[in-house]
Amino acid sequence: MTKPLSGKAALVTGGSRGIGAAIAKRLAADGADVAITYAGNKDAADTTVGALEALGVRSFALQADAAEPDAAADAIHQAAERFGGLDILVHNAGVANFAPLPEDDFANYRRQFAVNVDGVFAGTRAAADHIRDGGRIIVIGSVNAHTMPTPGGAVYGATKAAVAGLVRGWARDLGPRNILVNVIQPGPVDTDLNPADGDFANVLRPLTALGRYARPEEIANLAAFLASDQASYITGAAIDIDGGLAI
Ligand code: NDP
Repeated sequence: MTKPLSGKAALVTGGSRGIGAAIAKRLAADGADVAITYAGNKDAADTTVGALEALGVRSFALQADAAEPDAAADAIHQAAERFGGLDILVHNAGVANFAPLPEDDFANYRRQFAVNVDGVFAGTRAAADHIRDGGRIIVIGSVNAHTMPTPGGAVYGATKAAVAGLVRGWARDLGPRNILVNVIQPGPVDTDLNPADGDFANVLRPLTALGRYARPEEIANLAAFLASDQASYITGAAIDIDGGLAI
């Protein structure tokens, strides 16, 4: 039986762990060849690649710091070259360094914008040369783009609002080629970045309507849907998946 993404080639940035690894596995389970990038954790990247290959698809990992525009672009070029093109790009790599005023500083501001925004801009710009008509660009933003229930997240939220703005513009730019561009905005998801058994979780969990964190696989379900033919009329959308945090 043909799988929904058979014959498609995907790249997931920050695919070694957390939400990115779950998305990579789900796209592979749906039949896509999937390359991943990682920052420094080669062991985790190799483990994810092994899991992807076990699903019967082609896969490889590229070390590429999303904060370095040339590295972010080069990863796109390499993935497209090795796969012979690209159909799906998932910008997932991201950092969150919460710091309230007055402690927050310009270095922390710059670092979060470099990874969360510069990397997305550089990668999409490079991908525009490679991604086939009818392709998909999916950005992992955050519900913090438009809601901020705790102190310390001003800059993080601003980076995620920035990528939501980029997505709306790119949906217009790439619409004539039927390339659909959307941003997924999760609430709290149980990963190394935001563990469900951490202190911060005790603050966030009761703010959700469902009273729990998401599993990374629940975010991957939405990414797989947006990558599929089923999502053919969705572009420029910012879709919350937050257990009701932002209601
Ligand atoms: P994790 O910290 O669990 O995983 C981060 C992944 O991104 C790893 O694969 C890591 O690679 C990679 N990465 C980190 N920095 C860079 C960089 N500079 N260049 C390239 N890759 C990098 O994070 P999550 O899975 O929780 O988060 C993934 C995305 O989801 C982020 O954009 C985050 O902002 C967003 N998000 C997360 C939420 C949550 O509650 N967890 C909520 C809302 C949004 P390596 O393994 O090499 O370190």
